[in-house]
Amino acid sequence: MTARGKKTVRDLRRGSRSTLLRRLYFDGPLSRQELGSITGLSGGSISNVTGELLADGLIEECGSVESDGGRPRILLRVAAGRAHLVGVDVGETQVRVALFDLARTELAASDRPLDDRGHDAGHVAELILAGLAEVLERTGTDPGTVLGVGVGVPGIVEQGVVGGGGVGRGAVERGIGPDLGGGAGAVVHGQTVGWDAVPLGRMLRAGTDLPLFVDNGAKTLGQAEMWFGAGRGARHAVVALFGSGVGACVIADGARFRGATSSAGEWGHTKVHVGGRRCRCGARGCLEAYVGAEALVARWGAAPTGGGEKAGLAALLAAAGAGDPAAVALLDEAAEYLGAAIADLVNLFNPERIVIGGWAGLLLGPRLLPGIRAAATEYALRFPREQTEIVLGTLGPAAVTVGAATLPLSDFLDSGGEFPRRAEADAAVAPAGLRA
Ligand SMILES: [Zn+2]
Repeated sequence: MTARGKKTVRDLRRGSRSTLLRRLYFDGPLSRQELGSITGLSGGSISNVTGELLADGLIEECGSVESDGGRPRILLRVAAGRAHLVGVDVGETQVRVALFDLARTELAASDRPLDDRGHDAGHVAELILAGLAEVLERTGTDPGTVLGVGVGVPGIVEQGVVGGGGVGRGAVERGIGPDLGGGAGAVVHGQTVGWDAVPLGRMLRAGTDLPLFVDNGAKTLGQAEMWFGAGRGARHAVVALFGSGVGACVIADGARFRGATSSAGEWGHTKVHVGGRRCRCGARGCLEAYVGAEALVARWGAAPTGGGEKAGLAALLAAAGAGDPAAVALLDEAAEYLGAAIADLVNLFNPERIVIGGWAGLLLGPRLLPGIRAAATEYALRFPREQTEIVLGTLGPAAVTVGAATLPLSDFLDSGGEFPRRAEADAAVAPAGLRA
């Protein structure tokens, strides 16, 4: 570390690399001239830094465009195949592990259902590691090209807890550090799935030396929708995850708002009815206890046996579509609850956009959206409501996995394209990026 306020040549170079890499990643392909006018960097800097990035194989030339009267301008873009990302969604009924290239093309995925141990943390960690081994092996991917494993989980994630929640090995466990994602120290408080300070990072570290990143599933979904989906271009937004449970990711001035210990955005446990229905968290009257998919299916009470929540919710939707009065009333009420709860978000955070995602949100969204918008208008303060648009997510049900993969990606772009260190020097005995 250098003294505060002093930037070394290396810091500046890293900053320029990061700036150009980010621009090319999000807005490419671009010519060197366009990069210069967007970033304000000098022609010489652009030439030097793009030269380095080309030599490192991180960017590539991809054709050219005519310029007014001059020579054609060569276009540059990030080289999609140069590195890989892993995204994991610890879902309500299964664990999904997906391998992506840098352009977020899914190269392989492994879906492993939870068995009768449910969300037992050891079981979940086993499924993640088995899925990771499978996607790397199936694609023959060199673990040295994997920038990290991002994991989206249900619950509140405390980052970088040294020693892993009081059961670890002390202050300087190797494997915890910014170059390794810091996720090896992640501890998860997942009250609705029975996780009480689960040291998930440390449990995964026992089985892989790849950099680890762990975050709340709603926050990973939020990052994905903000970067690539319906949230693009907004600086103040809320991305709501509407699945079996309900969560949210609050984006304030372009950054995810986390609060003191990362629990900000637990919107599903805001109260819509004092003394109301019992929620999975143990309290009464939570939003989730009224509009979460699990609650809706339970309240509908006509789920086909064996089909699970998705089949139950689809049956509810079909019944409402056929005019069944009980189904129509239940969905109308759900739209009103969601709209009122969104009005609270509008009043509290003054977002310019609210994005509704998650598998249940995408399934029910087209039917509920008009009712949600109307209720939000009825319940919110008029001025902030007029500034807020309410839209559906555009990334589909796999958005949590994509979002989880953005965690290592974000680190990589910030570093200016440095490949992360692996944990300890076990690569020789763990050729597939995995420990025995
Ligand atoms: Zn609750």
